[in-house]
Amino acid sequence: METIAIMHKLACCKLSALIFGKNFILMSLPFITYSDEYWLQQALDLAERAYQQGEVPVGALLVRDNQILGAGWNQSISQHDPSAHAEILALRAAGLAANNYRLPKSTLYVTLEPCVMCAGALLHARVDRVVFGAYDAKTGAAGSVFDVLLDRRHNHQVQVTGGVLQQACVEQIQAFFKERRLAQKAAKLKHLSVGEPTNLKN
Ligand SMILES: [Zn+2]
Repeated sequence: METIAIMHKLACCKLSALIFGKNFILMSLPFITYSDEYWLQQALDLAERAYQQGEVPVGALLVRDNQILGAGWNQSISQHDPSAHAEILALRAAGLAANNYRLPKSTLYVTLEPCVMCAGALLHARVDRVVFGAYDAKTGAAGSVFDVLLDRRHNHQVQVTGGVLQQACVEQIQAFFKERRLAQKAAKLKHLSVGEPTNLKN
């Protein structure tokens, strides 16, 4: 959260200088809206934490009224919890911060298209909008494979914007899996080099 706080402050400084330079009053600051790219870049920073912990790099944050209500990154492996996806952790944190499991008028930013589980949780939380970076052609539930968020059979729909900072999000995930494949290959080769001598007799 430190990086996020610093980036937030820097953005405010830049904007306040701009406003001051044009002789607008500083009271305009609360009405500034940040771009989708601004928030998604912060989700990418959160995903990097997952990467460093050996988890599939996905980061998410929930924003309402220009403020981060909750943030999270994938922790399924470290937490031994199949539900510990970035979106779920961000929703849990936001629910605690808002003291309410319903989170209307909020937007969830996430580096990868949500899965079915996370899409379901977003519907329960009554999130207004989802913005994601990389499309997930295998399990995406925001239009790629399933269209859970816009299904009219639910009593709530979540607006979807995909492909924001797409290249950066795709590159981060691809780098992670490439690194993991290389590590698995190296481990296999090491295992073979100290293989059972009985194999040579067969
Ligand atoms: Zn998920």
